[in-house]
Amino acid sequence: MIYKTLGKTGLKVSIIGFGASPLGAEFGQIVPEEGERAVEYAIDHGINYFDVSPYYGRTLAEKRLGEFLKGKRDKIILATKVGRYGISLPGGFDFSAQRVIKSVEESLQRLKTDYIDVFQIHDIEFGKRKQIIEETLPVMFKLKRQGKVRFVGITGYPLSPLKEIVETQEIDTVLSYCRYNLLDTTMDDILIPAVKKKSVGLINASPLHMRALTEKGAPDWHPAPKKVLQGVKKAAQFCREKGINISDLALQFAFSHKYVAVTLVGMSKVRHVKANLNNVGVKPDPDLLKKVREIIKPVANIYWEEGLPENYDPGATEKRT
Ligand code: NAD
Repeated sequence: MIYKTLGKTGLKVSIIGFGASPLGAEFGQIVPEEGERAVEYAIDHGINYFDVSPYYGRTLAEKRLGEFLKGKRDKIILATKVGRYGISLPGGFDFSAQRVIKSVEESLQRLKTDYIDVFQIHDIEFGKRKQIIEETLPVMFKLKRQGKVRFVGITGYPLSPLKEIVETQEIDTVLSYCRYNLLDTTMDDILIPAVKKKSVGLINASPLHMRALTEKGAPDWHPAPKKVLQGVKKAAQFCREKGINISDLALQFAFSHKYVAVTLVGMSKVRHVKANLNNVGVKPDPDLLKKVREIIKPVANIYWEEGLPENYDPGATEKRT
């Protein structure tokens, strides 16, 4: 395993992190025992970063992960979130201080632990900037001072709100998803300069673009425009013809990023953990990568509107679903 330092937190994190949203059946039902074996296999093979949220499976992922981590808590770095509890506005989100305090206690209980390593606001683009800065973050910093959480971070899809918070607030980590992978590399231009300047720990999630960059393809709810999902199918076919699985190339590409400390891959099956571990430290074949990126080029860097309209990234397209 390769370990990197997560910005100023000083935490040594495996460059592949275990994304636990599939444990909450976000990509379809799973066999819980298989999920437990996947968690065990990951820890036994050096994965030490686990990311979850009360939102995944509407608390199911936290409950399952808490069970699966019994007796293993001290071997891992555990990240969870606050603020997102349902799919859409207005009911699905609550960034109030009161809810943060309640939420952390509920997460601690479900995860069967008495501290969270990385405590993050889940999808800041659904909140008003003023509330995030003046209410949500201050109460999270208070929990940090009390020792309930070790580090405070933010997560989200549009890059401009993430960048603004990184630049103006004293946070420890930032998680960006679907903005650095074979389909979209816009994270580099927008977020990286701010992250470097402030030494914030950078977490890159969804390197498979929420399953679009796999043989199985995107789930029905995937928000990318249809033409993007069609374009990626051509790339997957090309890889198949060359004898490589597109998910392997996608992970080799994502894991090679210079400033990302940990790349989170959603997993619930041992065979996926095994396959994904095999890509750690493997550089993508430059010729193959070049050709695949050429195929993807017409649909590359197309990102969608997410969150409150005031938080959309300039140039974002309408969501498919
Ligand atoms: P992903 O790109 O990691 O894709 C996950 C999907 O790919 C799952 O269906 C999984 O079963 C499948 N998969 C994994 N390995 C595979 C393989 N080798 N072959 C074929 N299929 C494979 O997307 P994701 O799960 O959305 O992102 C990873 C993690 O990052 C999440 O689980 C979550 O923990 C985190 N995340 C956080 C946020 C946020 O905080 N806002 C957003 C997105 C993701």
